[in-house]
Amino acid sequence: MNEHLLKILIIGDGNVGKSSFLHRYVNGQFNKTYKMTMGVDYAVKLLHWSDKEKVRLQLWDIAGQERFISMNRVYYKGALGCVVMFDVTSSASFLSCRHWKRDLDNKAMLPNGESIPCILLANKCDLPQRVVPPDSIDRFSKANGFITWMEISVKENKNIGEAMRRLVQDILYV
Ligand code: GDP
Repeated sequence: MNEHLLKILIIGDGNVGKSSFLHRYVNGQFNKTYKMTMGVDYAVKLLHWSDKEKVRLQLWDIAGQERFISMNRVYYKGALGCVVMFDVTSSASFLSCRHWKRDLDNKAMLPNGESIPCILLANKCDLPQRVVPPDSIDRFSKANGFITWMEISVKENKNIGEAMRRLVQDILYV
């Protein structure tokens, strides 16, 4: 059995749903009152990827440090994949993704010098008051080097596992 250890970052503006995402993905729950403490939060999830491979994901959430926009290099160190998240009801959170991606590319690199595989996640797609249209997300995702983008709803548990599998697939095989 082959075991891969992958450090994955979750970045994006405050209130887009990052800690809810981590909690949902790791514990299978969505809890409205759930809020992590300030600092970097960390969780581990083990995936039985195939008969021959296990994947141990180390997920890092910036929990409450979003106000810095620019993160400490220590946070990025050793990361092999990244989730950039925004809220489809907040165009400001969508615009910030450009900065988050740029900060990531400036501070984190794979050992071969390439940029880290990064997926763009459009959260809260359960809400009717959406303001960021799919074609804008698609254009932005292609222009800024994301592997792909997906609509998710942490609340309705939509596309959470799928998004993470897509990212892990890219990290392991591309
Ligand atoms: P963070 O600051 O990015 O970690 O965001 P939180 O995880 O604290 O979430 C911010 C708020 O958005 C909380 O009130 C969550 O319950 C809510 N939220 C998170 N995901 C969703 C979602 O998919 N749909 C809806 N409607 N609300 C969500």
